[in-house]
Parts: sequence; structure tokens; C-alpha cells
Amino acid sequence: MAKVGLKDIDVKGRRVLVRVDFNVPIEQGIENLPKYDFRLRAVLPTLEYLLAQNARLVLCSHLGRPKGKIVEGLRMAPVGQRLEALLKRKVTCIPEVVGPKAQAAANALKPGDVLLLENLRFNAGEEANDPEFAKALAVLGEVYVSDAFSVAHRAHASTAGVPQYLPSAAGSLMQKEIEMLGGALAAPTRPLAALLGGAKVSDKIKVLENLLNKVDTLFIGGGMAVTFLRARGYSTGRSAVEEAQIEFARGILAEAKRCGIATNLPSEVVVAPEFKADAVPVSTVAADKIPADAYVMDIGPRTAEAFAAGLQKCGTVIWNGPMGVFEFPAFAKGTERVARALAASKARTVVGGGSTAEAVEALGLSDKMAHVSTGGGASLEFLEGRELPGIAALPDVK
Ligand code: ADP
Ligand code: MG
Repeated sequence: MAKVGLKDIDVKGRRVLVRVDFNVPIEQGIENLPKYDFRLRAVLPTLEYLLAQNARLVLCSHLGRPKGKIVEGLRMAPVGQRLEALLKRKVTCIPEVVGPKAQAAANALKPGDVLLLENLRFNAGEEANDPEFAKALAVLGEVYVSDAFSVAHRAHASTAGVPQYLPSAAGSLMQKEIEMLGGALAAPTRPLAALLGGAKVSDKIKVLENLLNKVDTLFIGGGMAVTFLRARGYSTGRSAVEEAQIEFARGILAEAKRCGIATNLPSEVVVAPEFKADAVPVSTVAADKIPADAYVMDIGPRTAEAFAAGLQKCGTVIWNGPMGVFEFPAFAKGTERVARALAASKARTVVGGGSTAEAVEALGLSDKMAHVSTGGGASLEFLEGRELPGIAALPDVK
């Protein structure tokens, strides 16, 4: 169901409490923030829309894991400075989240002013979804807007609590995430393919189960493919196999066959004698001839070509999980090949998962995809078919 969006509520001149995700890797150093500010840039459309409506903005976010205590290195002010540069507008940062000082600062805002509250997680009430804390936050605004999709899978005070006390809406980033991920699952242009990879089957059991009765084609690479190759009866060298998941993988293969879903597993893989960046020698072997002393590091070039060709024929592709150990350049080729094919094809590609988004971003291909989710864990839970508490709490369009 569609959520109430920015255009559906009156924000003109009003104090709008906006939940954003400014959880940047602050440990990389403040001077490096411009390299890691995609989360700030991702909410600019919402902030700019609200400012164009002369709203008074009260922004709130978490940063790192302070676990309910004040941690000096996790203050929001440096992030506020970066936001100021991006917004080209003054951003006032205060060292309080809630309470009389925060209230006074919020009340003093004039149309077009921006206030950034202190780190939400300095207060234990945030992660505990304490109703008192949610109410204390809610009084800082007249309207609530959620644009933090990446924490929507957490039932926290600022995500699931506050909308119970204020007229609420989804921001444009939140709307886009719901539309793109939801649309790919509910009303895809067919054929619909799932391209799955990554480290482990066990991380993706529910994703596999949920996608299996929706897709026309399944492509499996990455470490996940290793367990599937074992399920087919091949030996897979020294690669970590999840023994407990072999039966599950077998079940998926059987179910796919029964439903007429084409399952594509690697026919050849890239192997190395050690699990490290500069392992030598690197060789390509048939999937049924993996040497006993080798690690599977990537899909082979012919498999990458075959996956690329198959994916390009699809109408929609849901991609979660790199095809190989892409952090090591020698084993990033399979991931790069499929990413380039998807970028160049007409298939609408929706990318979910933190590492997968990182890989696509590192290749400079994010703009070429229909959507790259900003929510790692949240996008996975969405693809599992779960209702996310931070979305469920927002009102539906009547
Ligand atoms: P996402 O965050 O996109 O959901 P995952 O966390 O499931 O993706 O998987 C990403 C990780 O999978 C990467 O760190 C990558 O190195 C690892 N990976 C990919 N292929 C292999 C492989 N063949 N063996 C071991 N690890 C792999
Ligand atoms: Mg991951």
C-alpha cells in the first residue's frame, strides 16, 4: 500500500521533525567526510523540498553505536558542518537530543532554518523504543517525516515511536526505496531474475525463499554458489561450505525445477590456493573439477559472460550479493562483468545489500541502475518479504 508522502501533507512554514540516516563512518576522520557523505546527499531532495515550502527543519539521526551513553567521538556536529556545505545553508547543531534546551532551539527556528539534534543513540530510550523518549522527540516538531529507510528495519523511538504522536509522511528517499524494492517484487516487468551471491547461504535463506515463488530465473554466484555446487554433488575444495545448508540448497534446486524456474549456477569458477588478495597461482576450473586444496574466489569468465547474457534478456533484475571476493581486485572480475552488463541493459536492476551497493558504487555504476538501495540490512529484510516497523508505522494513503 502507498504511504502518505511529502506532497500529501501540509508542511508550509511548519516545524518538521525529519528522521534521517547520517550514520557516516566518522572513524575515518572528519576530513574524509566528503568521501563518505552519500547518506547526506541521499536525503537532500527531501530537505530541499521542505525548505522550498518554508518549513523549519529539526533533523535527527543516530551515529555509530554509543549504546545510550554520550561518546565524544560520536557527536553530530561535524556531520552538521558537512551538511551545511551540501545544503549551502546554515545548520545549527546542539548537544541535546530532547529536553528544554532542544525545545527552545526548535521553537526559535524561523522558516527555512535547519537544526540538527545530537546523536539519538546517546539516549537509551532510542533503541529501547521508549514511549517517553518518543514523545519528547515528537514535541520538537509539528509534523514528522521519515527519510531513514536504512533504519526502517529497527523498531526504535525515532522510527516506529514518533509517528504515533505526530501527523507523519515518508520522505522522498523512503518513498523511492518502497516503490523500487516493492515494485520489483510486486509488479515487475518480466522476466524477473534474482541474481544472488555474497558470502553465505544462511544469511539469505529467507530472501531465497521469498524470491523463489516470484522469479522466472535464478542466478547464483559468490560464496553462496559453493554450497549449491555441493548440493549438486560436486566437491568444492577448501571453500567454506555450510554443511547445514546443503539440504536447504538441494530443496531450493528441486523446488525451482518443479516451478519451471531456470537456475543458473557457475559452470566454471576462479580458484586460488589461499584466501588472500595476492594468492598465486589463480586459475579457472570447471565447477565439477575444483581441486581439493583450492578456494573458490569468483565466478569464471565464461560464467560471467553467460550470466551477463541471461540477465540482459530480463525485464527486471533483483541483485543481492557480489559474485566473488570483490574486495580483492584479482577476484572482482565476475562482479564487475555482471554489473557492467546490467548497467548497459534495458533490464531494470534493483540492487539491495550493503556489500553489493558498495561494489556497484565503487565501479561508478550506481546511476546506471534503476535503484541502488541505501539500506543494507533494511533492503534484505524487505526482500525477505518482511514488514519493516519503520515503514509500518507510517500512515497509508487513504
Ligand atoms: P550484501 O551485503 O550485499 O548482502 P553479503 O554480505 O552477503 O552481501 O556478501 C558480501 C561478501 O561476500 C563480500 O565480503 C565478499 O567478499 C563475499 N564473497 C563473495 N564471494 C565469495 C566467495 N566465493 N568466497 C567467500 N566470500 C565471498
Ligand atoms: Mg553484507
